Amino acid sequence: MKPAAERFAGHRQALADKVHATGVKHLKTLEAIATVPRHAFMDPGMHPQAYEDTALPIGHQQTISKPSVVARMIELLHKPRQKLGKVLEIGTGCGYQAAVLSLLADEVYSVERIRPLHDLARAKLRPFRINNLRLIYGDGILGLPQAAPFDAIILAAAGLGIPDALLDQLAIGGRLIAPVARNEKEQQLVMVERMSSQRYQRTVLDEVFFVPLQSGVV
Ligand code: SAH
Repeated sequence: MKPAAERFAGHRQALADKVHATGVKHLKTLEAIATVPRHAFMDPGMHPQAYEDTALPIGHQQTISKPSVVARMIELLHKPRQKLGKVLEIGTGCGYQAAVLSLLADEVYSVERIRPLHDLARAKLRPFRINNLRLIYGDGILGLPQAAPFDAIILAAAGLGIPDALLDQLAIGGRLIAPVARNEKEQQLVMVERMSSQRYQRTVLDEVFFVPLQSGVV
């Protein structure tokens, strides 16, 4: 993705600075936040708010995730001094996080269950001509067995637990990060590292707020 000289260039760096101020330190992640023009993934009416560190509506009762949370999750997926290899994202939405991931990973697969959002992401991403990103319309709860195993899996929607198919499709040594709902109101970020074929290490992190992980496609 070329860092185009456009109207929002200064805003992109300012957003990366806001994300840094929330505690994200991983340099390449901050650089990716400073590179992707977030407004390009939103309706023109929302452009004035595009560089605020908040989640915003994208239609179909879904949101574009909060940049500092996107960055925090991507930072946590990184192992020391390693690039992200093959990544699976569940919940493409408008495609913003997929674009950020494409700058940090070898390959990105992103699954969305709402057809109009899958189509929207495709349209929003087309001008960037990203060649290491594949968008898939389907139910991410089932993962993407045809492309597994994944070095990293990131969920952009909160379920009551982490789907078994996703744990199965994580490479040994790989990391998964997901918001997990404890009840109607509370969610926590959970990181899972696969230590061996049978052993997973689970760490509970920050309180977060995401849209729900839902099954089936619409
Ligand atoms: N990654 C987006 C966030 C989109 S919000 C960003 O860059 O901002 C989360 C998305 O997850 C929604 O679009 C929602 O439709 C989708 N989602 C929820 N359950 C899903 C499932 N089972 N499979 C695929 N996508 C799902």
